[in-house]
Amino acid sequence: MQKNDLVTVRIEDMGTGGEGIGKVDGCALFIKDAIIGDLVEAKIMKMKKNYGYARLMNILAPSPARQNARCKEARRCGGCQIQEMDYRQQLAFKKGKVENNLLRLGAVPKEVLDAAMEGIIGMDEPFRYRNKAQYPIGRDREGHLTAGFYAGRTHQIIPLPDMDCALGAEENQPILQEILAFMGEYHVQPYDEESHAGLVRHVLIRKGFATGELMVCLVINGDALPHSDVLAERLSSIQGMTSITCSVNREKTNVIMGKDIKTIWGQDYITDYIGDVKFHISPLSFYQVNPVQTERLYGTALEFAGLTGKETVWDLYCGIGTISLFLARRAGCVCGVEIVPQAIRDAKNNAAINDISNARFYVGKAEEVLPGMYEKEGVQADVIVVDPPRKGCEQIVLETMVKMQPDRIVYVSCDPATLARDVKYLRGNGYELDRVKAVDMFPHTVHVETVCLMSRVEGK
Ligand code: SAH
Repeated sequence: MQKNDLVTVRIEDMGTGGEGIGKVDGCALFIKDAIIGDLVEAKIMKMKKNYGYARLMNILAPSPARQNARCKEARRCGGCQIQEMDYRQQLAFKKGKVENNLLRLGAVPKEVLDAAMEGIIGMDEPFRYRNKAQYPIGRDREGHLTAGFYAGRTHQIIPLPDMDCALGAEENQPILQEILAFMGEYHVQPYDEESHAGLVRHVLIRKGFATGELMVCLVINGDALPHSDVLAERLSSIQGMTSITCSVNREKTNVIMGKDIKTIWGQDYITDYIGDVKFHISPLSFYQVNPVQTERLYGTALEFAGLTGKETVWDLYCGIGTISLFLARRAGCVCGVEIVPQAIRDAKNNAAINDISNARFYVGKAEEVLPGMYEKEGVQADVIVVDPPRKGCEQIVLETMVKMQPDRIVYVSCDPATLARDVKYLRGNGYELDRVKAVDMFPHTVHVETVCLMSRVEGK
């Protein structure tokens, strides 16, 4: 096989990026947008020794799991990878991914995993689940103002038909249309990355699903938005509008948001609830993007934590304190640790607006704060919750947790491979994998979130 050859392939597996994998002459081919069960014709784009990349040309016989994507631009848009796969199959694939990682990388014996695995929590309606969208603003080929998403791995804006994304809130579209109409009328220019000229770079839209509150933040390459009062008046007539702000970002950078936020209309934050805990969300706050599944994820973490009201709980990698506050009402006290100072400020504020007084928050690296406080102050924990970024927990965090001997460790993970690595260490050091539940936080993408309960084995 060589470049430009046309081959017929049966897709038998799916790669970590959602691409279909099939074999020709014992050689694996990775084919974007092909799904397990498809028989496809593909064109070789690049060959390595034992594998290659090919482009999907024709679907000769579709997989029974194949369905039409809801978005016309699903293949070009970088947002979803598996929108053309039936949702039940997506869930089965993600559950399988968690199991395989725990079995292979985690060396968890099959009987232990089978007893622990409780399946995957999917969504009843896996569309319109995102409470946040960031649209780049630019011009299309004909020079018309447009908002869209970047095509996968590029900075080329795909103008979205009607500027709608099937994962986002319905309000995104009328908000963007109002902003583009305003820009056209008042000759406000979109930002152009190459020349670093023009004003409006991105529009951030957030919605509190529990409250219906809407936030719009325009990211601008300048100090102020001209005629902002006109735009504010128009946007504020949209039901739920609560906060309209500008964020100044004059850097040549891929970072979307600037550091300064200026309020144009209303408040500089919106309010939302996860369960019965209230959160103030400002344009720069980190906040989970799928609130429906987040409540299920935290509910699972709470259940696994097995709290009676007396426990001391540590919540490592706590962000704005979402899990900490969710657990605090049912614990003796909760200590959160997070590296981003602004997130800790939000966490403390969120504790205050909920009248939660048994949560403490520390700024710093988990791998420094936890060992430091354990060595110096001998802090203890009955339960430790961790929710690390993709790279998982640092070795010293795992070692310190083992020394602290909590009864239970609840591991919330966004990457099954690093989860499996850390589970392996904990299983080798006095903890057993008792319960595993996956939660689908991001339907139509390849990501999967997992919650594991590790319990201390007596006598170890
Ligand atoms: N539990 C939170 C956030 C989880 S995301 C929630 O559910 O909302 C992971 C968090 O870990 C991020 O907020 C990130 O800023 C933080 N983080 C990354 N590296 C860290 C480190 N070394 N120590 C502490 N926190 C870290």
